[in-house]
Amino acid sequence: MAVTELKGVSKSFGSVRVIEPLDLTVESGEFMVIVGPSGCGKSTLLRMVAGLETVSGGTIAIDGVDVTGKEPSERGVAMVFQTYALYPHMSVRENMSFGLEMAGVPKSEREILVQKAAATLQLEDYLDRKPKQLSGGQRQRVAIGRTIVRDPKVFLFDEPLSNLDAELRVQMRLEIAKLHRELGATMIYVTHDQVEAMTLATRIVVLRDGRIEQVGTPNELYTDPDNTFVAGFIGSPQ
Ligand code: ADP
Ligand code: MG
Repeated sequence: MAVTELKGVSKSFGSVRVIEPLDLTVESGEFMVIVGPSGCGKSTLLRMVAGLETVSGGTIAIDGVDVTGKEPSERGVAMVFQTYALYPHMSVRENMSFGLEMAGVPKSEREILVQKAAATLQLEDYLDRKPKQLSGGQRQRVAIGRTIVRDPKVFLFDEPLSNLDAELRVQMRLEIAKLHRELGATMIYVTHDQVEAMTLATRIVVLRDGRIEQVGTPNELYTDPDNTFVAGFIGSPQ
């Protein structure tokens, strides 16, 4: 079954339309990457899936359930932000456990889930530290850990690596790819970095001015772009 299905989804802020009505289906286990220039509507699209932004039109279904009017916590999604959005006064353990606590998960179970995520992300030695005592890469791992513990149906990433230096970006990219393989999870990942898109994606959505220009595998977009915009963006020789 298709995990995430957008039908006729649009968004306006006041009188300004930033997402034109669009359809998009992300299959179970897919790594769907949304690329496009700054301001084309990538974050807005992701935030509508997360429930952090209302839709102006259309519907969003996850696992066959219409979630369009549902709260973010009721959608089975978890989002990793560009800025990590960690709580500075809380330890790594508390940051990772907080969402579970809000969801009413008992303490003993929270501890097990946090421990497991920490092992996956090599954060076991850092659980008692505060975010400011961590490197950029470690902070990003905590942000990812916070989503893993929730066992979401869909992981949403909004340019998660853009605040890291080039070397760390490559390393984290490999880790996210590994995570996708190990968890078999569905991921929707926003970036404006073509290399990230080409190396991580099972399929890529190219967005421009709130419209989908093309959806396809990295290879399809590279070898058979629909137009010069896609060709220019993906970087194939035309
Ligand atoms: P991207 O993530 O691709 O850079 P965004 O989704 O952040 O693009 O923004 C798409 C467009 O919507 C931009 O023109 C942006 O200024 C506008 N926009 C985003 N959020 C708001 C908001 N809360 N109010 C008004 N305009 C917004
Ligand atoms: Mg954005």
